[in-house]
Amino acid sequence: MGFELLQPRSLAEALEMKKSYGEEAKVLAGGTDFLVLLKDQKLKAEVVMSLRGIRELNFIRHEEGKGVTLGALATHGAVAASAIIRQRFPDLAEACAQVGAVQVQNLGTVGGNLCNASPAADAAPPLLLMDASLILASARGERRISIHDFFQGPRRTVLQADEILKEIFIPQIPGRRGATYLKLGRRKAMEIAIVGIGVAIHLNGSDQVVSDCRIALGSVAPTPLRARHGEEILRNQEIRDELIEEAAEVAAEEASPISDVRASREYRLDMIRVLCRRAIPAALASARGNKVEGLS
Ligand SMILES: Cc1cc2nc3c(=O)[nH]c(=O)nc-3n(C[C@H](O)[C@H](O)[C@H](O)COP(=O)(O)OP(=O)(O)OC[C@H]3O[C@@H](n4cnc5c(N)ncnc54)[C@H](O)[C@@H]3O)c2cc1C
Repeated sequence: MGFELLQPRSLAEALEMKKSYGEEAKVLAGGTDFLVLLKDQKLKAEVVMSLRGIRELNFIRHEEGKGVTLGALATHGAVAASAIIRQRFPDLAEACAQVGAVQVQNLGTVGGNLCNASPAADAAPPLLLMDASLILASARGERRISIHDFFQGPRRTVLQADEILKEIFIPQIPGRRGATYLKLGRRKAMEIAIVGIGVAIHLNGSDQVVSDCRIALGSVAPTPLRARHGEEILRNQEIRDELIEEAAEVAAEEASPISDVRASREYRLDMIRVLCRRAIPAALASARGNKVEGLS
């Protein structure tokens, strides 16, 4: 499997290369999805453009009052270890810390996780909870799109042939936010999610009434998604067990899982309910500043 390797040193150089080669130049970041697909001959590449020499894409930047920006080359390991992410967006840190194992986290990027567009991408549910936006760049200029509009289906995104993902922007969220990401796999490491669930609870003043609730699901539909009807059940409510049950039930109804080698459709639906029942109280406790012990 020989290919021509392009190694741009700046974003501008990469965008010029993408302009000339278009679809023909396949983009490589950490390579943890790309090289597996290439080896298994599920991907053909005559020209590969590696982003790894572009240092300006490798950063995590916090701007007070605005939010956090991840460069396209920020790895899962760097994001999971970042103090600002752990403090403000623990669900994203938890998701990145559950990708593969340490070796994969050190190479794999959050940007690559999104661009690969697997329904099971672990970083996607937390970023959906945060209404993150993505900056897509080409020699023609840049455009910002909501993560909600990025995925089109398994391994399909809105990226154009001459575009690369440049940055992921997470807006600052007002009020107190508690959030968690729970992943069910057949084992604890080196495992793609059977179901992944992110839940965020926002409190604005009272510790009792939830001002906003967000639920995101992975691995249970062609793309990661928000369970917006389930969220509605809890919004502006004082959380009670019956409401959590109802939200879990409704969230499961919003999914359309398939049966595959990892699990059956029925099992996945059941696990959405189970993980919702665990994640909602955990997110609430974290918003209130408490911890729920023994959750994994
Ligand atoms: C052993 C193993 C375990 C794994 N476990 C998990 C897991 O638990 N959870 C999980 O979610 N994933 C898992 N993965 C998949 C993979 O590690 C992640 O999806 C990772 O985040 C991919 O990032 P990358 O930088 O390696 O992307 P690459 O493999 O370099 O690229 C992936 C795709 O995105 C495109 N791309 C990458 N960056 C850009 C960009 N900036 N602009 C445009 N296109 C781009 C590439 O062209 C390619 O199509 C695992 C992989 C392995 C090998």
